[in-house]
Amino acid sequence: MARKAMKRATKKSTPKKGAARKAVAKRSASKARRPAKSAARKASRGAARRAEPKDLGDLFMETLKDIYHAEKQILRALPKMAKAAQSGDLRRAFETHMQETRGHVERVEKIFALSGTPPKAKPCHAILGLVEEGEEVMKEFKGSDALDAGLLAAAQAVEHYEMSRYGTLKSWAEQHGMQEVARLLGETLAEEKHADELLTQIAESNVNRMAA
Ligand code: FE
Ligand code: FE
Ligand code: ZN
Repeated sequence: MARKAMKRATKKSTPKKGAARKAVAKRSASKARRPAKSAARKASRGAARRAEPKDLGDLFMETLKDIYHAEKQILRALPKMAKAAQSGDLRRAFETHMQETRGHVERVEKIFALSGTPPKAKPCHAILGLVEEGEEVMKEFKGSDALDAGLLAAAQAVEHYEMSRYGTLKSWAEQHGMQEVARLLGETLAEEKHADELLTQIAESNVNRMAA
């Protein structure tokens, strides 16, 4: 059902094309008129291709490719951040979220499967920048009491990016009646929110006080 819904969401022109094909089939009883018709069809198809913008289904898939890339980048960054963390709480939070992030990658792959599209990542420029900022903090604040506060801030920026992406994807999925997809996105969204809250708690309880 979800698969059908996704197809509906990603292939909005199918019914139109089908109808057009039927109409053409009806009219093409006479072979003699065919060449003119197919030329007309070709021309109108060309015009349609130029004029027809991408739809919300395309946008959904592009955004899914973005978060797929982002999750993979986060999976690479988290072990480095865990290693750099000075507080045990923060290190454990990074390690726990690394486990969760593996699940996030799997869920995104499941959504690709439900939509009948092979999983494909496309560069998420936002996450590349956020990861780079995290690396900058690790380098510049190495040995400083403020390092963990910097790591927390960098990690929360990442969580907020993910929350925004999953929130958007979930509401698009709901709008298209893609229940199963929306449910999967909601599960990940809840884990990102929880990770963010945990980081806030850690920040408020010790790290920021230590840096003061
Ligand atoms: Fe995630
Ligand atoms: Fe992005
Ligand atoms: Zn996350």
